[in-house]
Amino acid sequence: MNIVLMGLPGAGKGTQADRIVEKYGTPHISTGDMFRAAIQEGTELGVKAKSFMDQGALVPDEVTIGIVRERLSKSDCDNGFLLDGFPRTVPQAEALDRLLADMGRKIEHVINIQVEKEELIARLTGRRICKVCGTSYHLLFNPPQVEGVCDKDGGELYQRADDNPETVTNRLEVNMNQTAPLLAFYDSKEVLVNIDGQQDIKDVFKDLDAVLLESVQ
Ligand SMILES: [Zn+2]
Repeated sequence: MNIVLMGLPGAGKGTQADRIVEKYGTPHISTGDMFRAAIQEGTELGVKAKSFMDQGALVPDEVTIGIVRERLSKSDCDNGFLLDGFPRTVPQAEALDRLLADMGRKIEHVINIQVEKEELIARLTGRRICKVCGTSYHLLFNPPQVEGVCDKDGGELYQRADDNPETVTNRLEVNMNQTAPLLAFYDSKEVLVNIDGQQDIKDVFKDLDAVLLESVQ
């Protein structure tokens, strides 16, 4: 199964990726991990990537794609891979298609976990932290017994600046604008599958798994 997993922040991509790995043993390849590994191994491309990152510059596509090529050529990807965080743009997607074609392979499915913006905002702004002990709560997933108060010590709960609605909304919109052309590209190639990410985690996985089972056969 050659899969690209997509979803906005808060859509539950990481949770679903873990479940896929657990069931199928497919390597979960995230951009961050791929870069870290290439840098750690000191590959030529890893060294190049690091020099850009050290300058705070964007790693050029040719370097990124080279790193992806090296990673997908490793034997653990023989039976498939789960790409996460790559490609980010249409040119990267086209480059990925070309490199896979060179390997005699192709993307089978692009799975997009869909969650409405309002729900994502609720998920991404729900974190509250105790000023006294630092315990983390979530208004949706793990609320304190009394609103605004830590269960353990009665300390006041606060919201981190990163979690405020304005920052979160802005981050989501940037992400949505970036991924829209990519989703359209994969849709036009008829490999895009949208999964309803607003269900229970297990139901999201059930829908997702139905797509995977189809590509395992
Ligand atoms: Zn506390």
